[in-house]
Amino acid sequence: MNMKVNRYNYPSQFGNDLQPLLRAIGEDLLKGHYILTEAVDSFETAFADYIGAKYCVGTNSGTDALILALLAMGIGPGDEVITQANTFYATVAAICFVGATPVLVDAEPHAYLMDIEQVEPAITARTKAIIAVHLFGKCMPMKQLLALAEKHQLRVIEDAAQSHGARIDGHAAGHFGDIGCFSFHPSKNLAAAGDAGAIVTDDLHLAEQIKVLRALGQSGQNRHVALGMNSKLDAIQARVLSAKLGHLEHWNEQRRAVAAHCISRLDGLPLSFQAPAEHEDHVYHLFQVRTEQRDALLAHLQSNGIDAVVRYPTPIHLQEAFAAYGWKAGDFPVAEALATQTLCLPLRPDMDADEVDRVCGCVRAFFEGHS
Ligand SMILES: *Cc1c(COP(=O)(O)O)cnc(C)c1O
Repeated sequence: MNMKVNRYNYPSQFGNDLQPLLRAIGEDLLKGHYILTEAVDSFETAFADYIGAKYCVGTNSGTDALILALLAMGIGPGDEVITQANTFYATVAAICFVGATPVLVDAEPHAYLMDIEQVEPAITARTKAIIAVHLFGKCMPMKQLLALAEKHQLRVIEDAAQSHGARIDGHAAGHFGDIGCFSFHPSKNLAAAGDAGAIVTDDLHLAEQIKVLRALGQSGQNRHVALGMNSKLDAIQARVLSAKLGHLEHWNEQRRAVAAHCISRLDGLPLSFQAPAEHEDHVYHLFQVRTEQRDALLAHLQSNGIDAVVRYPTPIHLQEAFAAYGWKAGDFPVAEALATQTLCLPLRPDMDADEVDRVCGCVRAFFEGHS
């Protein structure tokens, strides 16, 4: 018996879709349909429908989706953008790439998301936007955040790279603010076979602007009207994404079921989890557990073949890449505590009860052996 429990099982995402997918890709290859084809259009339409947004524009990656969103809003040097200290590098790098200044706020210790109480004190006359990150598959409390943004006339961008299909009261992550940015990196809940991303919005002007900006600033052939990037969703990746999109809802349900099973099996141990909120559908991109014995638990799991991992061991403000912003240890204590106390247990939609038992049994053995 294979005692390993892996974090990913990419082949399982294709199932019976593989042959028709390969046929469609083969036809595209032979017809020379490579750039911004019908395959890209039809994925964009399908993904906009799935989210409930009017428009979707496919990009080369989630990072580029964030950069394009900021560029389309005209955010750049002299502007400040607020986001959280405990996010993935790309959220903050995107702000820096457009020349704007990232302003970090600390995490909230129970939800592991941006602490909304700390947003208003961070707003200045230069603040232009807030990037809300629905981290690990859990939605930010968007009602409060949107009210705050409206009060201060700020744009809201959602980093929904970890939350495809997460909802509050049936309303999808990525469709609360002005623009939602998604990544389809192979590790994400909806995954391409390479890099890919998209933005969604209800704002026709922003959608059109991003279409120009992703295509070398061209409004038509040889007519460059803006300083754009070259960042289009690849046609082959669009085929892969279209083949998988119809399964996403079911996969997210399976992720929730696995997480619920784990939470009940780990009951009574000195562990905590992202606190649930009412009316939310968490999509468990990552299943975080928090313990003061994180490093020892991680080593125990890994030595038993459980593919646990730490996301993210160094918070943004302590990353070398951002040294120029002058942040230091102690600036964001909750983000720092989460960085030393959380780990991700493997969670896949296709995980069976036996694997869940092995993971939870291994965690239990660790605490019972040490108590
Ligand atoms: C993955 C991710 C991104 C970046 O997406 P890429 O497609 O890898 O560029 C941005 N933000 C968050 C929170 C992510 O998890």
